[in-house]
Amino acid sequence: MLAADYRGPRRMRVASKADPVIQHPRDAIVRVTRSCICGSDLHLYNGLVPDTRIGTTFGHEFCGIVEEVGPEVQTLKAGDHVLVPFNIACGQCHFCRQGLFGNCHESNPQATAVGGIFGYSHTAGGYDGGQAEYVRVPYADVGPMPIPDWMDPDDAVLLTDVVPTGYQAAEMGGIQMGDTVVVFGAGPVGIMAARCAWLFGAGRVIVIDHVEYRLDFARHYCPAEVYNFQSIDDMAVFIKKVTDGLGADVCIDAVGGDAAGSALRTVLGKKMKIEAGNAIVLHWAINSAKKGGVVSIVGVYGPTGNMVPMGNVLNKGLTIRANQASVKRLLPRLVEHVKEGRIDPKALITHRVPLEDLPDAYHLFSAKLDECIKPVLYPNN
Ligand code: NAD
Ligand code: ZN
Repeated sequence: MLAADYRGPRRMRVASKADPVIQHPRDAIVRVTRSCICGSDLHLYNGLVPDTRIGTTFGHEFCGIVEEVGPEVQTLKAGDHVLVPFNIACGQCHFCRQGLFGNCHESNPQATAVGGIFGYSHTAGGYDGGQAEYVRVPYADVGPMPIPDWMDPDDAVLLTDVVPTGYQAAEMGGIQMGDTVVVFGAGPVGIMAARCAWLFGAGRVIVIDHVEYRLDFARHYCPAEVYNFQSIDDMAVFIKKVTDGLGADVCIDAVGGDAAGSALRTVLGKKMKIEAGNAIVLHWAINSAKKGGVVSIVGVYGPTGNMVPMGNVLNKGLTIRANQASVKRLLPRLVEHVKEGRIDPKALITHRVPLEDLPDAYHLFSAKLDECIKPVLYPNN
């Protein structure tokens, strides 16, 4: 089959690889029809995630048609159209039983934090992913969900990660009626978080980024008030100014580790050199939240020391919540939101490309070129 093939930082190719086979009675093989590139793939692409091995097939957001199932999979059969959550979850361990499908122990037993993830580094279990013609899906009786007949597969593929992650970001914010919510990052995840903030009762939604076409999209789609951080000297001072001196009730980090290199920023009146990976957005979110507010983090961070301003967390009495999205837990209600038209996932897709064009799609998405918001690959088209 043809599949993505990581060759080192910013070097992707499409290569011929062996077809995946059933390795365990609970496995399925899925023929991939749609597979996205995610902001999380960019951390891998940019070489920021430890133990990302040469030759890995990336891709954790995919849907397709079941080709074959192992003898213990009673819930699926060949020919079923399924969407597959990005978390690999056994469904039975201590964490899965609490609905923490992103923290499954069985799918990544050597890790103390994250569960297994398709197409990620070996810190997430070392599973090959779905930027390929075929993919092996472990615990196939747990994660995959049949795509309802009425659902457009372009919507379905965004239910594997972007929609649940944005929704969970808003959910973890504990948004109360009328709250002001500030979302950092106008990528697919931030845009979806801002859209979902309204579903939880937000009274005002602000989105911050520096990519103008993404801010334009967020302004109309979420809808949101948008600001370019390049024109803001001190973020916390600015957010306070536009919120009657209080700060935001909820700040959402939909950016994560910043690969953009070191930069001199003003943080609470002081010029600070923030190194790549040192989390300027965490400073902004913590310092822009009002006293007693909530910071919700879905942006992904590497293992570097992040210089988090813990003193301000304590002194403001903030609540901080963070996690990988628990996709399976959220799917039933998200399917309803899509059916009722409250969320329109496929509106985010700007680039539909054949698998062979994967290297170009990574480049466009990473460099934020050609008005790219969400690229989707179509293997087996
Ligand atoms: P993306 O790269 O498309 O979007 C990130 C956006 O953040 C970009 O538009 C960029 O310009 C903007 N940005 C960069 N620095 C900023 C700053 N200082 N302030 C405000 N905006 C800034 O990525 P995405 O697909 O939207 O993903 C966003 C983050 O969410 C990534 O870190 C990704 O790994 C993470 N993620 C987490 C989960 C989860 O389950 N927790 C799931 C999916 C993605
Ligand atoms: Zn993703």
